[in-house]
Amino acid sequence: MSKNILVLPGDGIGPEIVSEAVKVLAVLRDDFGLDVDLDEALVGGAAIDATGGPLPDATLDLAREVDAILLGAVGGPKWEALDISIRPEKGLLGLRSELNLFANLRPAILYPQLAAASSLKADIVAGLNIMIVRELTGGIYFGQPRGVRELDRGERQGFNTLVYSESEIERIAAVAFDIARKRGSRLCSVDKANVLESTELWREVVTRVGEAYADVELSHMYVDNAAMQLVKWPKQFDVMVTTNMFGDILSDCAAMLTGSIGMLPSASLDEQGKGMYEPIHGSAPDIAGQGTANPLATILSVAMMLRYSLDEPAMADRIEHAVDRVLDDGLRTADIMSEGMTEVSCESMGDAVVSALS
Ligand code: NAD
Repeated sequence: MSKNILVLPGDGIGPEIVSEAVKVLAVLRDDFGLDVDLDEALVGGAAIDATGGPLPDATLDLAREVDAILLGAVGGPKWEALDISIRPEKGLLGLRSELNLFANLRPAILYPQLAAASSLKADIVAGLNIMIVRELTGGIYFGQPRGVRELDRGERQGFNTLVYSESEIERIAAVAFDIARKRGSRLCSVDKANVLESTELWREVVTRVGEAYADVELSHMYVDNAAMQLVKWPKQFDVMVTTNMFGDILSDCAAMLTGSIGMLPSASLDEQGKGMYEPIHGSAPDIAGQGTANPLATILSVAMMLRYSLDEPAMADRIEHAVDRVLDDGLRTADIMSEGMTEVSCESMGDAVVSALS
């Protein structure tokens, strides 16, 4: 049965990079037998301009129906003066919470061809391939009570609550163990169990879930040490699983080890494996419309979609090999350009990946 994909180009470079990713999907459909139907809708600033809000009901209705969503990026200076409650980013957050996309998968992969792009020494990062699994709909970003209150002594106090229920920990742990099983079978759970009771429970529940995954080697690490280890010897990690806030910080740190924001995809999944797939970068208003954006993070997001939501691992491999091939051929968009390579536009990079698919 054919699978339905909703395409949300969004703002800035979103439409440029998404059209290259759609080109790849269309070729897989037309020439390689991938059974998918594509639909497109508005989100973010584009939706505000057309409908007055960043997440129109029509978009949300379609998003609920489809098997997977491909998103470009949202936001830009044009909408920055709007009230925070109706800014483009609310469209993205609304999709995540309405669809209960609790598992955020952020791979940090450094293609050996791009080792010089990292701020770390090439031998420390060459071949880096970490998957960070971040809990996305719980923890301190959502816990109640929260706010800023007046104290008797005449000063204000800001407060947030770090809460995790056993079921929230169980479901994210299971996602991480399943992923580790499909990769190098090593999972490192990151917490602060020596100080925070909520993550003491986190460690206990992750360990319990691990009893059903005897084939996966589980380790635990405090978050401060994990941050240090990520920059000291990142290749020790296979899969990492952690809370919303720790994951927010560690996944950005890991992404930067690769030195190329235009290369990294991400997935946000619900309990049924339905997901929203997007590059980790934003709408890059500074280069929008110039045809210079790197479409590879979005194209690699399609590969993640095929692997995690559409159960088409061979098609995902095909895309990833094609990206590898164009890098081997020396093609580079401006953000990853280096001496001796050939600089290409966003569109030419998309075309090159399409050619390399076969
Ligand atoms: P950004 O990621 O858009 O850009 C940071 C820098 O990286 C810029 O110099 C940009 O040109 C470059 N860059 C980003 N993607 C690139 C690509 N594919 N190819 C080449 N260069 C690329 O971050 P920002 O400038 O902080 O934010 C710009 C807008 O994007 C803001 O409105 C922000 O709110 C929004 N944003 C959206 C998302 C999202 O949609 N998921 C994420 C982050 C930021």
